[in-house]
Amino acid sequence: MQIARTIEDARFMIMEAKTRALQEGRSTVTGLVPTMGYLHQGHASLLRRAKEECGVRVLSIFVNPIQFGPKEDLSRYPRNEDGDFQLAEENGVDVVLLPSVEEMYPRPIQTSVRVAGVTERLCGASRPGHFDGVATVVSKLFNIVQPDKAYFGMKDAQQVAVIEQMIFDLNIPVEIVPCPIVREADGLALSSRNVYLGGEERRQALILSETLRLTEGWLAECQGDFAAVKEKMAAHIRTMPLADIDYVDLMLYPDIRPVYGLPQEEWTGQRLLAALAVRFGTTRLIDNRLFELGMPKGAISNV
Ligand code: AMP
Repeated sequence: MQIARTIEDARFMIMEAKTRALQEGRSTVTGLVPTMGYLHQGHASLLRRAKEECGVRVLSIFVNPIQFGPKEDLSRYPRNEDGDFQLAEENGVDVVLLPSVEEMYPRPIQTSVRVAGVTERLCGASRPGHFDGVATVVSKLFNIVQPDKAYFGMKDAQQVAVIEQMIFDLNIPVEIVPCPIVREADGLALSSRNVYLGGEERRQALILSETLRLTEGWLAECQGDFAAVKEKMAAHIRTMPLADIDYVDLMLYPDIRPVYGLPQEEWTGQRLLAALAVRFGTTRLIDNRLFELGMPKGAISNV
């Protein structure tokens, strides 16, 4: 495994890895797994999928300042280079791209990629500018690495919708591979930010996955009254005194369009994203689950 701290080194190492793959008669399909580091088994699942499908595997680790708001956790975002390298090596990474902020943004950036529509709700509404930062850095990473495939977790389902929209609109020749959410045994979705949680916060945070589990039954019985389901979800989360709701919502996916009040023809057979963002102390957690509407017991979580 090689480690590139500059864009030039990364391009050279990726070219070498492709040449090696070609010489050894292996696939030269190149897979990119973009991350912000402090890797866990959720990231590892993306790396393993890339290993199955690609002969050349690139991991990027970059805590992207332009996707953080002024009051967010950029300065305290957790880091662990050595742990990340070990997990990357164990999961078949060929090249790690680990650029500094100066390497990625040597001058104030004057160009940005802004996806409208799918960014209007959920995290797009509660974190203004966040998805501009994400779309811009992912475009840069795609141009640096030139992958054939890129792997993203459905933990950030709206992010997947944003990137899919971006590559469609801009004809970017990268196949997006959405990967299922990886959870702890007790249901908590893995996240680098889970390390911030105190013991009691960690215990109460289980309300997120529990609410999403219960939502399946509430949806099955709701007869199109999605506003009532949303209310039940919020009420269930509020049973935990430390839970401070940012949003609880039900959106058609991948449009990220509210489902409330729509005629049945507009939602039957569509996918519905149940999405949560909840603060426990200073830690904001997100979780979600995808359902197929209009099919009996048709939960298709982890699509
Ligand atoms: P991050 O480092 O948080 O920016 O995440 C990098 C990638 O890993 C994103 O595509 C995330 O959606 C994905 N990811 C993070 N947590 C999980 C998880 N628990 N299960 C699956 N994918 C995840």
